[in-house]
Amino acid sequence: VTTRAKLREAVAAERSRGHSIGLVPTMGALHAGHLSLVEAARRECGFTVATIFVNPTQFGPGEDYQRYPRTLDADLAALASVGTDLLFAPPTEVIYRPGATTFVDVGPVAAPLEGQFRPGHFRGVATVVLKLFNLVGADIAYFGRKDYQQSLVIRRMVADLDVPIQVRVCPTVRESDGLALSSRNTYLDATARERALTLSRSLRLAQEVVVSGERRAVAIIERMRRLFADIPSAQIDYIALCDPETLEPVTLVDRVAVALLAVRIGGTRLIDNELIIPPSK
Ligand code: AMP
Repeated sequence: VTTRAKLREAVAAERSRGHSIGLVPTMGALHAGHLSLVEAARRECGFTVATIFVNPTQFGPGEDYQRYPRTLDADLAALASVGTDLLFAPPTEVIYRPGATTFVDVGPVAAPLEGQFRPGHFRGVATVVLKLFNLVGADIAYFGRKDYQQSLVIRRMVADLDVPIQVRVCPTVRESDGLALSSRNTYLDATARERALTLSRSLRLAQEVVVSGERRAVAIIERMRRLFADIPSAQIDYIALCDPETLEPVTLVDRVAVALLAVRIGGTRLIDNELIIPPSK
């Protein structure tokens, strides 16, 4: 469905049958990572709604809004194959009413990392996600850990604004060689794809370095950085080791931390993250 009225009608009918509603927000160009969220929703909810909306307000000037992959027919087939009950795929004017001026600003957890390199990104994300929560009226919403900071931004918003929804964050789905699935992987040619493996390799290296005894964040980050030194056309936006809840940088990995990085490979900006777990003494 593409209109608010059709969406509301379909969801209300399921509710009146006593079904709980699961929501999986996406920007389309669906892959197995997205579908794993649908599967998680189906395990827990009686009725699963996916949304596809390439949200203009979360793209900065010069980013890939215009060329972002739009593959609706393939997406419909993929959603059907995992038993999605309803797809809401509205045109832009259904989501953004003419003259709309209200935005959600989540504050400190949205400021560093992606927030620093993509100013305004999380303002757009939080605003559209809150709107989708309000439009769908779901009980539980499903997000991927692949976008780690985004999941914290959404949890913060839900808590701070008393949004009546539960948030689930599901594991990152990877290719067998470690590359995190992403709609933007379609931008990578064979050479760039091979180079892109350095992101997940650097995360594995971080864990190994910690297991071998290193605890200093600067030293671990330096080891990760060095992996990219040999990669032509790799440009690091950030590599960080942070507190998993607050995203404040840690100086020592003496308890669980999250390693997060954003790197441009060729022209394509990729992000990835993993929890880094020091061995128990
Ligand atoms: P996107 O379409 O990129 O906005 O992503 C929609 C949802 O899918 C977000 O909650 C993402 O975190 C999640 N997602 C994207 N890639 C993956 C992945 N490789 N594994 C798990 N979830 C993912």
